[in-house]
Amino acid sequence: MNSAARFVWVGAMALMAACTVTAQQAASDAGLERFRAIYKELVETNTTLSAGDCTEAALRMSARLKTAGYPAEDMKIFVPEGHPKEGGLIAVLQGTDPNAKAILMLAHVDVVEAKREDWTRDPFKLIEENGYFYGRGTSDMKAQAAIWVDNMIRYREEGFKPKRSIKLALTCGEETNSALNGAGWLAKNERQAIDAEFALTEGVDGDLDAKGNKIALEVLAAEKMSQNYTLEATNPGGHSSRPVPDNAIYHLVRAVDRLSRYEFPVQLNDANRGYFTGMAKVVGGENGAAMLAVVKNPQDQAAVAVLDKNVNWHAMLRTTCVATMLTAGHATNALPQRAKANINCRIFPGVSREEVKAQLMKIVNDAAVSVTIPEVRGPEAKPSPLTPQILKPIEEVANEMWPGVPVITTLEPGASDAQFMNPAGIPTYGVDGIFTDPDGGGIHGLNERVRIESVYEGRTFLYRLVKIYAQQ
Ligand SMILES: [Zn+2]
Repeated sequence: MNSAARFVWVGAMALMAACTVTAQQAASDAGLERFRAIYKELVETNTTLSAGDCTEAALRMSARLKTAGYPAEDMKIFVPEGHPKEGGLIAVLQGTDPNAKAILMLAHVDVVEAKREDWTRDPFKLIEENGYFYGRGTSDMKAQAAIWVDNMIRYREEGFKPKRSIKLALTCGEETNSALNGAGWLAKNERQAIDAEFALTEGVDGDLDAKGNKIALEVLAAEKMSQNYTLEATNPGGHSSRPVPDNAIYHLVRAVDRLSRYEFPVQLNDANRGYFTGMAKVVGGENGAAMLAVVKNPQDQAAVAVLDKNVNWHAMLRTTCVATMLTAGHATNALPQRAKANINCRIFPGVSREEVKAQLMKIVNDAAVSVTIPEVRGPEAKPSPLTPQILKPIEEVANEMWPGVPVITTLEPGASDAQFMNPAGIPTYGVDGIFTDPDGGGIHGLNERVRIESVYEGRTFLYRLVKIYAQQ
């Protein structure tokens, strides 16, 4: 091949390559445009408990699935009785292997309240500005909800025939403790429809540093259980002009004071051990050394003391109990007949609420103060097993997309819908591939935002990841 011919040949190849890229680009741009429209529709459908409507959001998403060709028998809008605006959607892309259990893509579509007058921009408009999407739910968690819907549409369009069925559940009521929880409702009333070997949902993101560099992709594998306890002292009371030492308020505040000085023992499981092992390399220095020391020996008090300075790490290491409300007395001029404190405990996975109650009674150490459980929200959860079947695909896709960024498992001190799924026998993991700023991006607060690029990367990540799981 002479150089002129070679030039022509290379030029033709380049042209062909350019054409293919353009064709692919056009297809992916159209796909991206549609994804953006789904995301916009979700954000712009107000789903707050006060003024919003999750059922409407679910109906809109089911209309999109219908357009993509999902038959009516593979979709269901569910509306819990007496809660017309707190409904949701379940849908399935049928798998080819009847013996393979499904994978469930779970997302809540409700959002935390947002007042227009408090926000810089309309919270219920998807606004793009300076590389960010702004709007209530842009981060928590309508991006992932939109990605799940988009996945369902893309897989169907491609004619993808997964081995396992791929299920979708969009639910309501995650953000408000007193609201009816859609995931809990499904676990109770539609257990078969959402049956899956495991579920993926929110919980943790990828971490960016202050300069926007990716530092780690977190995977949530365990959550603590929230449980309230009531400490209560009662007393015959009397006139406050004739005080006696035996006083309900004094009994109670002494008990609360003893509690304030108590720390539950450090505990390790796969999730927090993985977190501290992985994070040690990322944070380095004194903190990194302390992380490795605690993993090696949870009794290492000096190392524990270093980690305890960080509220997140402190909470990840153990059960915590904290006084959150006090009510006492009935008149300014009377000795109190009753004094009550609410203690909110976040219980380490695998520890029972009765064990914590017994420990609280020991700490209180006063027969005049009773310890009771006012309400039980759900069954006790076990941490989801961190098998290679779960972790490997995450590491594979992450490594392709973000080489060198470590995948780190974590234990969440708060709680998500996994608290209903795990006890129902569906191990649930939090992963989204969406990298967020270190300040949290205004989740639950003002001017919630997420990087545009991060959302699009998360879309690619979750599309690939679910595909791999579906073929296992
Ligand atoms: Zn959320």
